[in-house]
Amino acid sequence: MNRGILTLRAKKPKCPYCGEKAELKPSSAIYPAANQDYGMFWVCPGECDAYVGCHVNSRRHAPLGRLANAELRQWKQLAHKAFDPLWKEDAEGYMGFSRQGAYQWLGSLMGTTKSVHIGFMDVNECQQVVEICEGKLNESSSDTSN
Ligand SMILES: [Zn+2]
Repeated sequence: MNRGILTLRAKKPKCPYCGEKAELKPSSAIYPAANQDYGMFWVCPGECDAYVGCHVNSRRHAPLGRLANAELRQWKQLAHKAFDPLWKEDAEGYMGFSRQGAYQWLGSLMGTTKSVHIGFMDVNECQQVVEICEGKLNESSSDTSN
């Protein structure tokens, strides 16, 4: 039986800050105080304080995005906070887009037809997302107040 030996080998992502290959570590390496297991993470071996989680069911530990340092992690949170209400039904201020529709709309405003994903954005792009989505939010709340 010819099974590819590559199928189970993780492709190591690189740290975008220092260029070193990331190391696979359990969540306890990142959250030593947590009682919960958050799965595996790709972690910069250097001083960047950069990491990213893995897809839960990925045997190859596919990363959820690019490695993010503290500054980018904060911006990604802000971007999600601004963007998720467009499509997430349980988010405050839900606007009724489908997930795909929301990402398409975002992509078109960011000048790309490729699918956009906050997990793969840098600080600049996250800032754009916040600006775009807050503009949309203000627009729709002034619609309803009249
Ligand atoms: Zn690094």
